[in-house]
Amino acid sequence: MSDFEGLKALVTGGASGIGRATAELLAFRGAQVAVLDLDPTSVEKPLLGYQADVTDDDSVRRAVAAAVADLGGLDVLINNAGIGAQGTVEDNDDEVWHRVLDVNVLGMVRTARAALPHLRKSSHAAIVNTCSIAATAGLPQRALYSASKGAVLSLTLAMAADHVREGIRVNCVNPGTVDTPWVGRLLDAATDPAAERAALEARQPTGRLVSASEVAGAVAYLASPLSGATTGTALAVDGGMQGLRLRPA
Ligand code: NAD
Repeated sequence: MSDFEGLKALVTGGASGIGRATAELLAFRGAQVAVLDLDPTSVEKPLLGYQADVTDDDSVRRAVAAAVADLGGLDVLINNAGIGAQGTVEDNDDEVWHRVLDVNVLGMVRTARAALPHLRKSSHAAIVNTCSIAATAGLPQRALYSASKGAVLSLTLAMAADHVREGIRVNCVNPGTVDTPWVGRLLDAATDPAAERAALEARQPTGRLVSASEVAGAVAYLASPLSGATTGTALAVDGGMQGLRLRPA
């Protein structure tokens, strides 16, 4: 029997990149999977798509309620929707800070609030938040993004403590630079996309970008009963960025 057989999962930001790879992997491994996204038009069966903006509490509540009704319950929440931001503290005004924190941090709070009453009824409840190596690495030109992911890391630990006795595990993954449409957009906007890509690759000890399916594998592990004794952890999926002390060649 597959490790996800009979489990019901909801993946936010599941129409693209890491979320999409995760939704597809969970479905492949036997879960029934709902995707919540700003634009779920590309979501195909067996995945179920629901439109919602994680900055809008009503739309999140409606989408979670509809997904739970269609799935017949909820065991797993993958809090993955997020947006990027570049620059130092001098480069972005308050409006941009509020926007990014609203999506990346409060977005996860809203989906968790809507999902927790349903997760409490599951005997295999798990939440996995997509954090980032930016939460701990001190990356240049990423002040706002790093602050948002630092908050996701702290939120993960606090939620793990709050819900451990309810049988709900809460963990996060810390990816390095992942080859997704998001990074594609970043490279397209660079003056020299090939040089920018080479710089991103060189930053990783493995010398290559992480793939979305490699992150999905780590998320799936933390979401599955195989990690039943693991809560309040951050699993690095970063080509060795956090653990190794290598200088780019
Ligand atoms: P992506 O842009 O390919 O996908 C993000 C998805 O989230 C899209 O489908 C988008 O529609 C959805 N989304 C964005 N804002 C939303 C909102 N307000 N409401 C609902 N859905 C929304 O990006 P990705 O690279 O797959 O990133 C996914 C997550 O992984 C993010 O949380 C990001 O911070 C994190 N992450 C990415 C990388 C990377 O290098 N790509 C590294 C570390 C962490």
